[in-house]
Amino acid sequence: MKHFAVIGSGTMGRGIAYVAALGDFVVHVHDVNAEALDIAKSYIEKEMRKSAERGYIATEKAEQALENIIYTTSMEEAVKQADIAVEAVFELMDVKVGIFKLLDQFCPGHTILATNTSTMSPTEIAAQTSRPDKCVAMHFFNPVHKMKLIEIVRGLDTSNETVKIAKEVAGRLGKETVEVNEFPGFVTSRMNCLIGNEAMNMLMEGVASAEDIDKAMKLGLNHPMGPLELADLVGLDTRLRNMEYLYKTLGEKYRPCPLLIKYVKAGRLGRKSGAGFYIYNNER
Ligand code: NAD
Repeated sequence: MKHFAVIGSGTMGRGIAYVAALGDFVVHVHDVNAEALDIAKSYIEKEMRKSAERGYIATEKAEQALENIIYTTSMEEAVKQADIAVEAVFELMDVKVGIFKLLDQFCPGHTILATNTSTMSPTEIAAQTSRPDKCVAMHFFNPVHKMKLIEIVRGLDTSNETVKIAKEVAGRLGKETVEVNEFPGFVTSRMNCLIGNEAMNMLMEGVASAEDIDKAMKLGLNHPMGPLELADLVGLDTRLRNMEYLYKTLGEKYRPCPLLIKYVKAGRLGRKSGAGFYIYNNER
């Protein structure tokens, strides 16, 4: 396998492109938004060179990886040679289904089509293609270059061969995998969204400050990050879409916290907008 396509160059897409290039793939990154592609390119170049300066990767390897990433606003161009295409666009079923229909049309017959959805049904997405056996969810974590796991989620018709290839690709990207049967939110998002939502409800109820809620979870329960810091890193718009889907599919306990809804309405989307539960110097 040589050619890797990433659809969507936001928070996750740029991270997936980064690890795929280091896994010796030729990577095409596609976004409909040219500005998002420019931001992704600067981010990847900055992070790759920083890692080389700090000695995590050889300078030659980093420069080779950067050369192997092509950015394009044409999806057809991005996927025409792809062995695997990973979709990382907004967490909205209609948008993902639209992308998968196009991927099915533009990709060669052998291409594995993967979605990086945090919560949604790979079966429903795959059903819109002529190759549901070659569709799977590969749920990466943020920031992709630091997080070790990919959840591999089987849809109803995902073949054993597709799961095997997805695991091999994950290995090339330096990741560990767990295999999960499709259910809303898989293992990690189902658990994590509930914890995050409860932290937001506590903040709204005045139980403690954001800083103290996060400190309690880190020092008292040994979480590496507090749930509110983590929500800011994920992006509050993305988290709200995750909660809305889980509320629709799993019921009342996933009702999104009103404070989260209010922040998203105000454009406070977390780190990427400069403010969420905390205020940031905007670093994107
Ligand atoms: P994001 O909002 O940062 O980026 C989404 C990108 O998709 C944007 O650049 C947008 O221009 C692009 N896009 C939208 N519609 C498109 C289309 N039709 N064609 C091509 N590009 C399109 O979102 P994100 O946080 O990177 O999340 C992407 C996916 O990854 C979601 O499904 C999300 O649930 C999942 N995910 C997110 C995180 C996280 O921490 N942010 C973690 C794991 C999984």
